[in-house]
Amino acid sequence: PVVARFCPSPTGNPHVGMARTALFSWAFARHNQGKFVFRIEDTDTSRDNEESYQLLIDVMRWLGLDWDEGPEVGGPNGPYRQSERMDIYADVAKQLLESGHAYKAYDTAEELEERRNAARAAGKPSGYDGLHRDLTPEQQAAYEAEGREPVIRFKMPEKVYTFNDLVRGEITFDSANVQDYVIVRANGQPLYTLTNPTDDAMMGITHVLRGEDLLSSTPRQIALYEAFAEIGIGGGFTPEFGHLPFVMGEGNRKLSKRDPESNLLDYKPKGFLPEALLNYMALLGWSIADDRDVFSIPEMVEAFEIGRVNPNPARFDIKKAEAINGSHIRLLAEDDVRDRLVPYFQDAGLISDPPTAEQLATLAAATPLVHERMGLLTEAVDMLRFLFIAEDDFAIDEADAAKNLDEKGLDVVRAAREALAELSDWSTPAIEEALRTSLIEGLELKPRLAFGPVRVAVTGSRISPPLFESLELLGQAPSLARLDAALA
Ligand code: GLU
Repeated sequence: PVVARFCPSPTGNPHVGMARTALFSWAFARHNQGKFVFRIEDTDTSRDNEESYQLLIDVMRWLGLDWDEGPEVGGPNGPYRQSERMDIYADVAKQLLESGHAYKAYDTAEELEERRNAARAAGKPSGYDGLHRDLTPEQQAAYEAEGREPVIRFKMPEKVYTFNDLVRGEITFDSANVQDYVIVRANGQPLYTLTNPTDDAMMGITHVLRGEDLLSSTPRQIALYEAFAEIGIGGGFTPEFGHLPFVMGEGNRKLSKRDPESNLLDYKPKGFLPEALLNYMALLGWSIADDRDVFSIPEMVEAFEIGRVNPNPARFDIKKAEAINGSHIRLLAEDDVRDRLVPYFQDAGLISDPPTAEQLATLAAATPLVHERMGLLTEAVDMLRFLFIAEDDFAIDEADAAKNLDEKGLDVVRAAREALAELSDWSTPAIEEALRTSLIEGLELKPRLAFGPVRVAVTGSRISPPLFESLELLGQAPSLARLDAALA
């Protein structure tokens, strides 16, 4: 059975690259009816923090990437936060030392530096030269007597490592190019190099899917798994690896955590649906079919073959993400759209928490007017603000007023006011009829010139839902009052 995992470090805000990795690993697990393990790699006390731990959990929940084992869920191989597993790493390091797979190295920083420079000058590889690999107990004791505190290094076997990357195919590394690497610092702190494979082994991970940036650590980790198998740590097997393509941002640079569009926390407030963001992120290295950009997450799970992930860098395109979001919004049922809009109207201070029945009814009636017109849910707030805003707070966009409510525009508003005041049936068809008769026929105006001033006076902006429907929803008295205000 497949056991896949996602194991981010809680440093800073969750970002797009991270979520794309989580999504692929999750989809792979779900496609194969396997397990998805979520683990937090928080051993770097200087960079990790509690806030980003919580943000990671929140963002995974918002995206709907559920986990079978991990924080808040538990599981047989917990705890799932590395900061709570320090005893385990100390014990594994001890076993690696005792079995001769690792050794204590006492080199000082200066000594290492000196030898590295000498190697470089001689045109030799400048990694660790293995000088302390085979110290005698007496030599070790002498260093300890000097007060030196050793790091622990893994003894990299000399051999050629070949593995079949699930995305990239066969990859070969000659360990002559891989130095004996540090797994525990002199202060006793275990490093990623040790903690990550230890946990993957103990948690029974069968498939490691992660970013391409970690490709170079794979041969070291495979060597460590082989040592684990010998000394009985984990299930005795080496997982399969798949390295996902880089995500590129503007100007063909790797999308960095610092790029604004890479901050995952912005997507919800901007008005993205989680399923649309997942759909978009799925396209960063994968496709469901040629010429098909929009699909549901169950469809993705059904179709997700890791072998079809494209190893070439993927380009992040926020415009495309928004277009896909708009498609997903259009696919939703009307009352679902309304429900999802409520929190955005609350955040904008336009609907109370909890909403009143009247607010909900207005929103339900207004949703059809904007449903097909949004790329982002927040656009509904801008378009429908005029229906919810308190009369005292209502203001007309200045640029729109300058263009539409000049002398000629105000003449139009005056005529519209007169025609609308006479209506006894305040319905869309009646409103349309009255405005067409008075403005287009009466004033002999083109529709754009006729309706623009009315639209701006009543909704406050040129960008709003269809005019006659908007007037109907706002109601006769408020509509007339806004026309009056524009004329005043
Ligand atoms: N904590 C590591 C990271 O966030 C995990 C890398 C891996 O997936 O092996 O980069």
